[in-house]
Amino acid sequence: MKSAEKRIGNYHTHTMRCGHAAGSDEDYVLAAIEAGWKVLGFSDHAPWPYRSGYTNLGVRMTTDMLKEYCASVRALQEKYKGRIRIYLGLECEYFPAYMDWLREQKEKLGLDFLIFGNHFEDSDEDGIYYGAAPLKEHALSYCKNALLGMETGLFSYFAHPDLFLMNYPVFDETAKQVSETICRRALELHIPLEYNLQGQRLEERGKAKGVGYPKRDFWEIAGKVGNEVIIGMDAHSPDALIDSERYNRAMEELRRLGVKQIFELPGLGE
Ligand SMILES: [Zn+2]
Ligand SMILES: [Zn+2]
Repeated sequence: MKSAEKRIGNYHTHTMRCGHAAGSDEDYVLAAIEAGWKVLGFSDHAPWPYRSGYTNLGVRMTTDMLKEYCASVRALQEKYKGRIRIYLGLECEYFPAYMDWLREQKEKLGLDFLIFGNHFEDSDEDGIYYGAAPLKEHALSYCKNALLGMETGLFSYFAHPDLFLMNYPVFDETAKQVSETICRRALELHIPLEYNLQGQRLEERGKAKGVGYPKRDFWEIAGKVGNEVIIGMDAHSPDALIDSERYNRAMEELRRLGVKQIFELPGLGE
């Protein structure tokens, strides 16, 4: 089978609402159809109901934008029925104070899925950004919250589980232990890990000041542990969905490392 024929589902797609993505919602759908995706999951950065009224407009929408986001994706789902299967989701952190709220929203809005992006420690209001965290204590904190997040049972997969390596200086013993701990726990909980292609783009633009991600050492471990791995385009512009060369390279890399790839998320239904 040729690589491109394996391109089935991408569940990591942002929208302009997060403040750092480009293109209309419909542009993403049209790009996905053009690229031959069978399934497109929208998973824009989740808003949170900060008690202080804080907003982080360059990173995520606000809670009052959520309804319109859902309506827009649902309308596209209907409009393109039969041409592509569209799912409505969010990419969410593990913010302990707001997990009950998230659970309620998932139910209330009828979200199809949530993916776990462990970007910040406890909150982006005052917590550290793990993608800019160079210290061992940061890596250990990332690991702790990664486990707690996975254990909520809310998430269909763990996005860029190696994000903590972005600014972490070397793949040392701590990085290895964190990686092994995350991979083993994900396996126990049957949570697929995402090999994230946005990390590569950031690295190419010189944004990674440390090891960067996706990092081979991490995915070698995932291969040995036996994790299920799905490639995520993490599209912040429609053209990212058409980048089949990058996708095929990633597939080759995972195959070389003996990683068990999945191409679709089970349990989302037709
Ligand atoms: Zn983003
Ligand atoms: Zn993302």
